[in-house]
Amino acid sequence: MDLTYTPEHEELRANALDFAKRIVEPNLRERDEKAEPDPAIYRKMGEEGFLGVCIPEQYGGLGLDYHALAILSEAFEYVDTSARVIISVHNGLHTLALLQWGTEAQKQAILAPMARGERIGTFCLTEPACGSDVVGLQCFAEKKGDRYVLNGEKIWISLSTVADRYLVMAYTDRAKQQARDPHGITAFEVERGYKGVAPYALKGKLGVRAGVTGGVAFQDVEVPAENVIGGVGNGFKVAMSALDNGRYTVAAGCVGLMKACLDASVKYAGERTTEGRPIGRHQLVQQMLAFMAQSIDVGDLLVRKCGWMKNEGLRCTREVSMAKWTNTVNSQQCADHAIEIHGAYGYSNEFPVERYWRNARGAVIYEGSKEVHQLIQAGYALGLRKDGDLPHELPAWSKG
Ligand SMILES: Cc1cc2nc3c(=O)[nH]c(=O)nc-3n(C[C@H](O)[C@H](O)[C@H](O)COP(=O)(O)OP(=O)(O)OC[C@H]3O[C@@H](n4cnc5c(N)ncnc54)[C@H](O)[C@@H]3O)c2cc1C
Repeated sequence: MDLTYTPEHEELRANALDFAKRIVEPNLRERDEKAEPDPAIYRKMGEEGFLGVCIPEQYGGLGLDYHALAILSEAFEYVDTSARVIISVHNGLHTLALLQWGTEAQKQAILAPMARGERIGTFCLTEPACGSDVVGLQCFAEKKGDRYVLNGEKIWISLSTVADRYLVMAYTDRAKQQARDPHGITAFEVERGYKGVAPYALKGKLGVRAGVTGGVAFQDVEVPAENVIGGVGNGFKVAMSALDNGRYTVAAGCVGLMKACLDASVKYAGERTTEGRPIGRHQLVQQMLAFMAQSIDVGDLLVRKCGWMKNEGLRCTREVSMAKWTNTVNSQQCADHAIEIHGAYGYSNEFPVERYWRNARGAVIYEGSKEVHQLIQAGYALGLRKDGDLPHELPAWSKG
């Protein structure tokens, strides 16, 4: 297993960090305070090719490998989680699902404009009455001739009001819905412009306040049958494999957030004095800094391992879940320590660490809560859970 990043990877990291500092960081404190997303960021990310970073060039992307996706996620979340979320939902949860499950025609017609950043995509699984309990979905799409008529509502959807395209999971079989059989779920490409699609934004969020989170209501939305992704009845598999990619970006983003916590804390611990010496000289403060350094190294290695497996075309559902669980929980703890080190100042938005804490909190919940990931890991450990073959696997990375 070669976990070394190449000079090209490091160049991408430098470019992404530079982009985030120039485009995302200005006015970030104000935008976070007022919960005001900046729509220009999406367009600029598209212009840089970030929205198709590891999509093959033939489908409009940059054709970089899966490590590049992690590096981008880490660099963006170093500055703000809202920027990494764009990569998670557009790249991780939507475009990679199309790369894995789409037909050639869908890749040309739908994936390519998204990879070029001309169209923004998001992922619609969660509903008002079910999040972790995916088989409890209420959304239903009824087949009528060459179309499906979609009804229901999705909530807690990142980029809900800015996305042009939604990857929506809905039941298409009433009997299977009643039996809670995941084989009755189908994935659909739904355009925001379709009649009956009503996106909205949620107010009063704890974190990711510089980004959009909301919901989408679907009322008698006519979706062409050719918009089914991955085949009728494969929607659960599409969603779970999309989460293998989304969770990878979340885990990688956490490494960036933990680095931001460490950098801010080291700086403050060198400046603030008590008892005539910098607080960084107190062993209990050092213990918190050491935990951050440890969490960064552990988290980075877990992410690199997943990136290597993806590049090789190896299924890594277990490894990605481990990375996402470990890194989200550790990043929450790192942000908590960062506030502690800043004392009362850490409790105000004069310093960024309270934002890190609020942003880290959400990631422990979304893309599988920490409880869900513990159940997954216990399932593998007990031999109760095994990954079956999928009709379509995420393609291994091939250069050129
Ligand atoms: C900022 C943010 C962005 C999001 N973006 C998206 C998005 O883009 N697309 C999307 O589809 N969703 C998104 N979500 C939704 C997110 O994925 C869900 O919130 C998450 O899956 C949990 O579902 P829930 O909130 O319904 O909680 P529930 O499933 O109701 O769970 C509530 C609590 O019960 C626990 N629990 C549930 N079941 C079990 C069990 N079997 N055993 C033990 N404990 C259990 C959970 O761990 C949790 O602590 C987002 C959420 C947030 C906060």
